[in-house]
Amino acid sequence: MTVSHIRGCILGTAVGDALGLPYEGVSPRRAQKMLGSPVRYRFFFRRGMVSDDTEHTCLVAQSLIATNFDLETLPQDFARRLRWWFLALPAGIGRATFRACLKLWIGYSPATSGVYSAGNGPAMRAAIIGAVIDDLENLEEFVWVISRITHSDEKAAWGAIAVALAAQHSRQLNPINRQKYLDQLKSIIERRCNGLLEARAAISEVDERFTLTPDEVKSNREIVNLLQAAVDSVTQKESTMDFALSLGLKKGVSGYTYHTVPVAIHAWLSHPRDYRAAVMSVIECGGDADTTAAIVGGIVGCGVGEEGIPNEWISKLWEWPRSVNWMRRLADQLADSKNHSKPMDPIKLNFIAVLFRNLFFLVIVLLHGFRRLLPPY
Ligand SMILES: [Mg+2]
Repeated sequence: MTVSHIRGCILGTAVGDALGLPYEGVSPRRAQKMLGSPVRYRFFFRRGMVSDDTEHTCLVAQSLIATNFDLETLPQDFARRLRWWFLALPAGIGRATFRACLKLWIGYSPATSGVYSAGNGPAMRAAIIGAVIDDLENLEEFVWVISRITHSDEKAAWGAIAVALAAQHSRQLNPINRQKYLDQLKSIIERRCNGLLEARAAISEVDERFTLTPDEVKSNREIVNLLQAAVDSVTQKESTMDFALSLGLKKGVSGYTYHTVPVAIHAWLSHPRDYRAAVMSVIECGGDADTTAAIVGGIVGCGVGEEGIPNEWISKLWEWPRSVNWMRRLADQLADSKNHSKPMDPIKLNFIAVLFRNLFFLVIVLLHGFRRLLPPY
């Protein structure tokens, strides 16, 4: 793990997020007519701004620094950051995350704040964990803990683990070994599923609501089959768009994590060292494009570093107070904290400044919403 991997991961997430944002929720067909291809930013003239995907990635980084990678104190710290993030009125927040944040504010603990949802919230903030954690069991544990604060459906955590593992492979292996990736993911999920089954079996003797149904067991393991299909499709040189269509995502990639993650992994494996091609190919699939592109951008960025991300895309990110330089400093601090054994004070943002920025952002998001009411349809 080096500073370059972490910078690449955070900035890769931010650039993908910003490029994909104007395409969010638009079908591929209409996006082509209304916006054209994602070769440049189209959010605010030729500038790009980021959304929750990048913000959560930064929150995870801050929490890892503040707790010095301590699994015991991490949930509390991340939950606290999430609460303040929520209070600054972020636009376009996912439904489960919205409800989980409300629960945190009214006093639920991070252990009970998660909402039963398999949305892609945990997957969008997971690459940064793969950028810094080397040990597989640790990686799984960190992703699990960070996921469940907002999403309690295990599927959301499996998707997030698949993303974090991809980011780890992206920085460790060149070329990527697809089979090794699948095998490792499979063993992680098998191990945890078995643990969950045992735990549920023990509780269900007392309370049968906790009995896992055969369908639940199957759907927990489904992510491995979906990623196997993605790998096969990449091997046959199918495009990411064709793969998305084979999953029935004609109107765009949904925010369901078992849709988002296989398509994102497909884009990564198709262009593991080509940031531009990877991110563009996933945005062209439409739907939840800011999140799919943020995930792919985080994974590929982690492998190619900041140098591998087109410079014009980095320089035209228009963010304040969470500026490109601020994100670089955060990355450097995270790398630094990995080499220290004491918690550090992560760099912060001024709450009032974030509030103003978010209001401005909201106005532009609303303008995009109005624009979409007009042709071409
Ligand atoms: Mg977003």
